[in-house]
Order: sequence, then C-alpha cells, then structure tokens
Amino acid sequence: MNWKMESSTRFLFAFMGGFREFALRESGCGLKNAPVKQSQQVIIVGGGLAGLACAVTLRDGGWQPLVLEAGDDFGGRVRTDVMESFLLDRGFQVYLDAYPEAGKLLDLKALDLQPFDPGALVFDGKRLRRVMDPFRRPTHALESARQPIGTLMDKLRVGLLKLRATGWTPEKIASHPEMSTLQWLREFGFSEGMIDTFFRSFYGGIFLERDLRTSSRMFEFTFQMFSRGSATLPARGMQEIPRQLVDRLGSDCLRAQCRVSSLSRHGVALESGEALTSQHIVLATDATAAKGLFPAAWGRSPEWRSVTHLYFSASDSPLREKLIALNGVAGGLVNNVCVPSEIAPDYAPSGRALISVSVLGDRRSGDLVERVRQELRAWFGDQVAGWRHLRTDCIAQALPEQPPGSDSFAKPGFRQVDGVHICGDHMSHPSIEGAITSGVRTAHALMRA
Ligand SMILES: Cc1cc2nc3c(=O)[nH]c(=O)nc-3n(C[C@H](O)[C@H](O)[C@H](O)COP(=O)(O)OP(=O)(O)OC[C@H]3O[C@@H](n4cnc5c(N)ncnc54)[C@H](O)[C@@H]3O)c2cc1C
Repeated sequence: MNWKMESSTRFLFAFMGGFREFALRESGCGLKNAPVKQSQQVIIVGGGLAGLACAVTLRDGGWQPLVLEAGDDFGGRVRTDVMESFLLDRGFQVYLDAYPEAGKLLDLKALDLQPFDPGALVFDGKRLRRVMDPFRRPTHALESARQPIGTLMDKLRVGLLKLRATGWTPEKIASHPEMSTLQWLREFGFSEGMIDTFFRSFYGGIFLERDLRTSSRMFEFTFQMFSRGSATLPARGMQEIPRQLVDRLGSDCLRAQCRVSSLSRHGVALESGEALTSQHIVLATDATAAKGLFPAAWGRSPEWRSVTHLYFSASDSPLREKLIALNGVAGGLVNNVCVPSEIAPDYAPSGRALISVSVLGDRRSGDLVERVRQELRAWFGDQVAGWRHLRTDCIAQALPEQPPGSDSFAKPGFRQVDGVHICGDHMSHPSIEGAITSGVRTAHALMRA
C-alpha cells in the first residue's frame, strides 16, 4: 500500500469512527500491573495456528498481542464440531507427535494424544491387506513381507529410507535436491507397483493429491516425522490443539467474529467500521485472504488443493484396529477411510462408531454419498448399507500447493513487506508444524527487532 492510499484509508477510518489505540491496559493479557510499552503491542490478523502461536510466543515474552479472527471461533483450518455427541473434525487431520516446534509450544500430555498403529490396510481391488512397520511391529514383519504391496526390494528400500531419514534435519532437507515426490521415489528405486498401490494413496491422503507432484522436501519431512513418531488424534478432537493456545492467551488478547477489511503498517480497519492502530501488524491469514488484504506482497494468486470429506455413523466399526485404510487401486472416488472412534473413543457416543471417508478434490455432487457407499461395499461388505450419513464437508482451500521450487524448508517462515509481518503455513510448509513454526518465528523476529 503506498503512502497516498494509506493516508486516505486512515482518513476514512477516522471519519467513520475515529482511531482507537489498541489500548494500553495495565492488566492486559495476564501482564498484571506490568506497564506495556506501545512498541510491544501487536495486532495479529487471523486466529489459526500461526496467529495463535505468534500471539502465545509474544505474550510469553511480555508483549501484548491482540488476535482478530473473522470466524466464530479460533483454530482456522483445525476445527472440531460436536454433532449428536460425535466429534467431527473439519476434514481428516492427524497430529504427528514428532513435530519438533509444535512439540515445544504445545502441552502434548494435556492433549492426551491417541496414536494410530504404525501401518495401514491397503485395498488391492479385492480385499484389505495389512502392511505394518516391521521396525515397530516386528511380529507382523513376515505377514507384511508376504503382502503383494510392492516387491521385497521395495520393503527393504523402505527400511533403508528409514535409516537415512533418522539423520535429516530441516536444514539438511533444505539442502537436498528438490523435485516432485514422484520423481524422488522413482530415483530412490521404488517400483511403479509400490508407488501406485501404496505411496499414491498414503501420501495422497497427506498431500491431498495422488499425482505426487508435491515437493520432495515435504515428502522427506513427513516421512521422517512418521519414522520418528506416531500419527495421533487428541482425545477430544483436533480443535483441542488451538484451544490450548487460546487458553494460554485469555480473552483480553482475542476477538472472534472480527473480520479485518483492510490494513496498513499502522493499523487495521474492521468490517464493522471500527479502526485499530498498533506499532506492529502481523498478517496470519491463509494465503488467499492475505493476498486480498495485502496485494503488495503477492505475485500470482495462491493455488489450493481441496478435499471432500464424509462422516458416517455405524453400530459396528468396520475396522477393528487403529489403522487407516487406503485405496491402493487407480480410479474410484475414495482415497482413505478410518474410524476415529477406534483411535480415540470420545469421537463417538457409546455403542456407535464414527467413520471418516476422504475423497480428494472438490467432488460435491447430489449422489456422492450413494456412490461412496457403493464403492466401499467392495472394501467392507454389506454392512455399509447400514451406515448413517452424518455430514459432508467440502474444503476447497485445504492445503496450499507446494510444487518443487517452493523452497519451504529454506525460508525463514515469514516475510516482512512494507513493515507488515506475514506468516502462516503458506510461508513455511502446509502442516500444523509449518503453521506453528511460522507463527513462533514471526514473534521472535518482532521481539528481536
Ligand atoms: C482437510 C485438511 C487436512 C489436513 N491434514 C493435516 C494433517 O493431517 N496434519 C497436519 O499437520 N496438517 C494438516 N493440515 C494442514 C493444517 O491444518 C494447516 O496447515 C494449518 O492449520 C494452517 O494454519 P494457519 O494458521 O497457517 O492458517 P489458517 O488455519 O487458515 O488460519 C487463518 C485464519 O485467518 C482467518 N482470517 C482470514 N481472513 C481474515 C480476515 N480478513 N480477518 C480476520 N481473520 C481472517 C481465518 O478465519 C482463519 O482462522 C490439513 C488441513 C486441512 C484443511
């Protein structure tokens, strides 16, 4: 925003209701009786994990953040709704308990993380075949080796990759040659069969695309996280993660249903007509909202990957194990299925099972539920007819595209443009870890400055 626009916007704000200094409160944000210098006040636009992580880090450093969130609650893309006593996360998400930065900021014990077992069930067109991590489930090693999911050499290569990945750091990953995940897997020597039956569905569920066009660095990072720890669900739903950060901030630092309509380095205007000023502004929205609010910082429009997610309720769990089921065959709608209530029982009321089904892309259509049901009969048999559809969410802006060249692991995790700090998963890498790292680093940069 150039100065001319900035001063005219300021004039408009002042005309509409007058500037209101984001108040100097003696007891603000838990800083009881501690005078807060004006230079320590920060307005953070966006109350997803990046904005909340930034706010908590600033508050812990004695600063006074104010998070402005457009939605009716905090958490951004990590939200959980309660419906008929089911806990419905908005889209299938997991927390990887080896995430290094997120693990430092969050109280993982309080989240009561419930782990998936290390392995998967792969649908090969006829039936579900169990493939377990032989390092962590050695008793299943023989069974896994015999499954027709890749060759024996592929299974040995997974072991070799695990050994290599133990020595990787984010800096090391950033120094590796970058290519598409597909090319990386081929160069590492995996067979096309292994790529098609396992990697496309497993990483399809993580990257939300089965072409494996995502940067190989994201593949290396997630592979390492899976090798070091477990995929988990917080016992009371994914939104417990942002809720924990919200609880550390207190109501003085948070305003929901508060959409920012424009901003400059000096302040923000709210949709309500109110204007707030502050010494520091952090833009912590998703990439598309950030481009809308601050076009100066962007070139081309951000691209997104989408997912359509369905929940069903059943009297019996179709998977009596803590595993994810993957579609190992080309074609078809469904990419992955799991039963969150098998992992964390609070996801469903007693006597019911909650079934989560992910269909990649924006696949809203009138008969989607019936087509999914039809397809899953081949996986689980006639019991599917008894499943009750609970809800379908189409998440059009789920993950920002991350092609080779996005340099995610080499970036500092934020940018400063015209005095505004920009953070979010699009400044780092699209994950809970990426969003939290970006928010924390932004806070440290502000405090250092
Ligand atoms: C379906 C799905 C599956 C995923 N699976 C995983 C997974 O398994 N593991 C994993 O680690 N990650 C996963 N992710 C990614 C992870 O959830 C995101 O990378 C992360 O939550 C992004 O956080 P953020 O704070 O950067 O952005 P967001 O969560 O998008 O937060 C931005 C916030 O800004 C607010 N906002 C926008 N415009 C305005 C405005 N004008 N004024 C005020 N506020 C505004 C928005 O309402 C939002 O709350 C998944 C994401 C989705 C959607």
